[in-house]
Amino acid sequence: MGSMQALVHVLLVSFPGQGHVNPLLRLGKLLASGGLLITFCTTESFGREMRKATNIVDGELTPVGDGFIRFEFFDDGLDEEDLKRLDLDQYLPQLEHFGKELIGRMLRKYTGENRPVSCLINNPFIPWVSDLAGSLGLPSAMLWVQSCACFSAYYHYFHGLVPFPSEAQMEIDVQLPSMPLLKHDEIPSFLHPSTPYLFLRRAILGQFKNLSKPFCVLMDSFQELEKDNIEYMSRFCSIKPVGPLFKLSKQTNSTVTGDFLKADDCAAWLDSKPPSSVIYISFGSIVRLNQQQVNEIAHGLLALLSGDEVEVSFLWVIRPPASEGFGSDKIDLPDGFWEKTGDKGKVVQWSPQEQVLAHPSTACFVSHCGWNSTIEAMASGVPVVAFPQWGDQVTDAKYLVDVFKVGIRLCRGEAENRVISREEVEKCLRDAIVGPKAIEMKANALKWKKAAEEAVAEGGTSDRNFKAFLEEVRTGSALKTSPTV
Ligand code: UDP
Repeated sequence: MGSMQALVHVLLVSFPGQGHVNPLLRLGKLLASGGLLITFCTTESFGREMRKATNIVDGELTPVGDGFIRFEFFDDGLDEEDLKRLDLDQYLPQLEHFGKELIGRMLRKYTGENRPVSCLINNPFIPWVSDLAGSLGLPSAMLWVQSCACFSAYYHYFHGLVPFPSEAQMEIDVQLPSMPLLKHDEIPSFLHPSTPYLFLRRAILGQFKNLSKPFCVLMDSFQELEKDNIEYMSRFCSIKPVGPLFKLSKQTNSTVTGDFLKADDCAAWLDSKPPSSVIYISFGSIVRLNQQQVNEIAHGLLALLSGDEVEVSFLWVIRPPASEGFGSDKIDLPDGFWEKTGDKGKVVQWSPQEQVLAHPSTACFVSHCGWNSTIEAMASGVPVVAFPQWGDQVTDAKYLVDVFKVGIRLCRGEAENRVISREEVEKCLRDAIVGPKAIEMKANALKWKKAAEEAVAEGGTSDRNFKAFLEEVRTGSALKTSPTV
């Protein structure tokens, strides 16, 4: 470990969401382990949850490999429970206003402490980070946290390069270069004219307005997984796939996590189950199913458990209700559920998902198909029962089923506002566990697991891309003579 004062200092700024924090923090640990000083920064409101769930202490330097990582949080100017955070149209300008000011202040403080920042890295929804970097003469990079296929869809939509569904033609198919034909309900749903989430469309597209500013777009994907898309989109910006970051960052041996809920211990329970016998059910950090859909899933599980052709158990993540607003309804399981399931069922509030997916007892993953969950499942060799709700999840589901061939559909297009019946749930789960479809999906999942392992191994595509990026950050810093902060 070198002298801390001499280490190149990089500031990572994350949008406050679990699906954003996880991949950026994984990148941060890798950069630290390569001999940099990493300051990881997000809002105080998210930091508050992280502190409760983990052992993070603000500003404390944690050694990782040849470098260090530490956390700093900034105030978004809202009270603890302010529901403005749920409406990105209101929240993003607020975040930009406070973020620019407070991160600017942070940068000046570091310069004063003789630890100037050499580079900023952000993830989507907060493109102003690269504007701030540019205004101070600092280089910046962006970590895209969805698939390259979705990146291409947003890019082509933003620049009007191909026809997308419109008010006049709601159901047209979309042909993007180097991609299979997407039906109208397989494009990222925020791009569809019927979306109620226009503010999310605006938030994501914001990143494409200043795409020329970051010197590099890192992606949590890998060359072999999205070869044609990555090659095609590299015509428009400098893309470096460095994924799966959860796997590449394992090499750092760091236990630092950015969970916003404390993960329940699942290891002993999983150990007690036979190989490939557990159905893992989780819909990420935002999606919240309604009571009716929870009932149907519960009854589908009970029907499967009562049959004698397969020996199965389930591990189900049901997050606690938020205190107010979005997701505040309490969810109940049907009467008599636990008497019927006994030890064959376990419900947790938050799981250590990486460990669950890596466990030999896990058979399949019922997922909302967020990109983190998608790539974590594939790189762990676990087939997916796809239950997309909105946004990029519908496109990820299309890829899981029709392109990567490791998934089975519980629904196509958005599932929000529709209820999938217990019969369909039971049938899909059975098909994912026994029979020819299950065998085919497992074989493909293992193939992708191997490809992911090769990508992150010494000399693999993601390993080389990451090392090249690390070198660029180091060299960029060495070339920089007069920081303006
Ligand atoms: N996750 C977890 N435990 C859970 C559920 C999710 O650790 O019980 C993690 C998961 O491994 C992933 C992230 O939370 O890294 C969720 O990201 P994703 O893109 O799948 O979904 P989002 O939460 O953004 O909708």
